[in-house]
Amino acid sequence: MLLTEYKPQSMLVVKTSSVDKPRFPVIDAHNHLAEPFGGGWDKKPVGQLLEVLDQAQIVRYVDLDGGWGENILNRHLDLFKSAAPDRFCIFGGVDWAAWPEHGDHFGEWAANRLRIQAKRGAEGLKIWKPFGLNVRDQHGKLVRIDDNRLDAIWETAGELNLPVLIHVADPVAFFNPLDNTNERWEELQIHSDWYFPSLAYPSFDNLINNLANLVHLHPKTTFIAAHVGCYAENLGWVADWLDHCPNLNVDIAARISELGRQPYTARKFFLKYADRILFGSDFGPDLDYYKIYYRFLETDDEYINYSTAEIPLQGRWYIYGLYLPDDVLKKIYFTNAKRVLGL
Ligand SMILES: [Zn+2]
Repeated sequence: MLLTEYKPQSMLVVKTSSVDKPRFPVIDAHNHLAEPFGGGWDKKPVGQLLEVLDQAQIVRYVDLDGGWGENILNRHLDLFKSAAPDRFCIFGGVDWAAWPEHGDHFGEWAANRLRIQAKRGAEGLKIWKPFGLNVRDQHGKLVRIDDNRLDAIWETAGELNLPVLIHVADPVAFFNPLDNTNERWEELQIHSDWYFPSLAYPSFDNLINNLANLVHLHPKTTFIAAHVGCYAENLGWVADWLDHCPNLNVDIAARISELGRQPYTARKFFLKYADRILFGSDFGPDLDYYKIYYRFLETDDEYINYSTAEIPLQGRWYIYGLYLPDDVLKKIYFTNAKRVLGL
């Protein structure tokens, strides 16, 4: 039998809760509506989308797919924001491809673009992971995450009160040798473009340390470091960073797989940083995924499959519920995002 054919069924007889509704209304602070992550909702009726959000009790949905071109941002504002202004926030972005054209003034140019995006209705800035991995300057040189030529962007976001949701690097294992010890080997077989070997890319440590420095250098700008500070495998490190940077928040998007396999550490982390953690799912407006997230946060269920696939997608392990108390849940579901989004 090949490992890919092996699908062990757990024989545990333990409590299995079905959490169809969250205990409090939810702001999903990290999600998408277009392909490839959002399920192509820009091509479906918005009424159908609102029905799913109602069922999941998502009272507001942050769509990070506004992009940087006027067309995409406007399209998402027209499709979603105009249809239901209090149900969506659309984030803009930075057009890195324009760097060669603007050279060392790229930062000021991009900051100006951000002002235009904000005027049109963008409510935040999304920075995608090519920043640090692939983005290059006019000389073809890889741009550091804390490159001071970009200061104007971060300062402008701060001045406009736009939160910067930033994702750098990826799971640590995506940077490690792709051998029989790599805990995400199976996932990397399916997504070979998620592998960042050391000769072609900066190291994980390099990227995460530069991100920490960036957040430290711009204390008046509110940052949301995606995917539990881009380092869900090391909550001690993220805790330290949160302690040093009051302008930093983290979201939990696509990382209950990491949080739930270290439930003792994760629960303590949630209790201590209850004011700094934002709910996000990253799987599009998908009711089944929302239910898994609610079950993870609210119950003490054990050995939960964190994905809707038979073999969990991010690795062959299972997770444990955090049974968070009501006051903490309410902050993570709603209050923190409301504050950070300035609602
Ligand atoms: Zn995302």
